[in-house]
Amino acid sequence: MALHLFSSIRGHRNQINALSRVVARGEPGHAYLFEGPEGIGKDTVAQALLARLACLDAAPQAADACGACRSCAALLRGEHPDLVRLARDGATIKIDQVRSALGRLRFDPVLGRVKGLLVESADLLREEAANALLKTLEEPPSRTVFVLVSSKPQLLLETIRSRCQVLRFSDLSPDDVAALLVAEGVAPDAARVAAALAEGSMHRARSLCDPARMALNDEVARFALALGTAPPTDAAAWIEQIAERRATLAQAQGADSDNAEADEEPAARTGKTALTREDLQWLLDVLRAVLRDVVLCGTGIDAASLPHARHAAALHAMANRCDIGRIVAVVDACQQLEQRMGINPNPRLALSALLVEAGLRLRAT
Ligand SMILES: [Zn+2]
Repeated sequence: MALHLFSSIRGHRNQINALSRVVARGEPGHAYLFEGPEGIGKDTVAQALLARLACLDAAPQAADACGACRSCAALLRGEHPDLVRLARDGATIKIDQVRSALGRLRFDPVLGRVKGLLVESADLLREEAANALLKTLEEPPSRTVFVLVSSKPQLLLETIRSRCQVLRFSDLSPDDVAALLVAEGVAPDAARVAAALAEGSMHRARSLCDPARMALNDEVARFALALGTAPPTDAAAWIEQIAERRATLAQAQGADSDNAEADEEPAARTGKTALTREDLQWLLDVLRAVLRDVVLCGTGIDAASLPHARHAAALHAMANRCDIGRIVAVVDACQQLEQRMGINPNPRLALSALLVEAGLRLRAT
């Protein structure tokens, strides 16, 4: 576990304020469940809470751990004897891991004010592991705080959930995601594109920032921004080509793919090559995001302030060239196709038809 401070966490203000009040009262609960979407920083908030609760020198009203006491110093070294982090081993969290973690919490705190157990992806606790943890939650040792974190809380045993105070987290705003990416060293223009498409998830945003994926993203953006210009584009062939490049990319990244993405259900294949429903979803997301920027540009908003600012000149050109109402209609059509994706027998054909029609609708007159 590392030393995190509430004050340096971006987003989640309501949750952090609530936890700060708990800290200031000096009577934390025994067990918390932080639930909410994957990749938004719940673990970091949990670590900041445990760091603050264990800190020896923070003033009672201070939100943050002091950063200097023996407990904080141990966190900075990454080896705190009282604060234990339990994470998946392979696909699940196993009973041996739970037993070993609980064993470390059996005695009084060595360094800090409290002992703490952070359980990442608590929904991955296997049944016997969950039951072992439940026994401890039912008779919690003194001065011990449990924080369970989960993006799939419906998979937790109800008996565990009911022992915890539940704190619900929401998606990060696109501004928060972009700022966090920039802090991680991503170029601001790429960060904004990724943030606009990431649906509040840092995991997703980081993978979108990969240069090869960003290049593909740019290619879809250029295609969208050229809709309606001569010569007419062969939409079906273009989709095919994008699908192949995405499949190559997915293969190349498969080996080091993120855990959070890896346990998602495999996407259903929808066409003769590797175009998955997930690919189509992504294509529609990018098309919509780019065209939405054109619409905003057409209402007088400066393209430099929009997510696709890196295509500012083309955004302006399309906003000037096309009737904004027609672009809105194409955005709507993308959204409708997205909603019907699950029941559409041939979504690739539907997308191809949509693009051909969009090209006609937005043709320069
Ligand atoms: Zn401290």
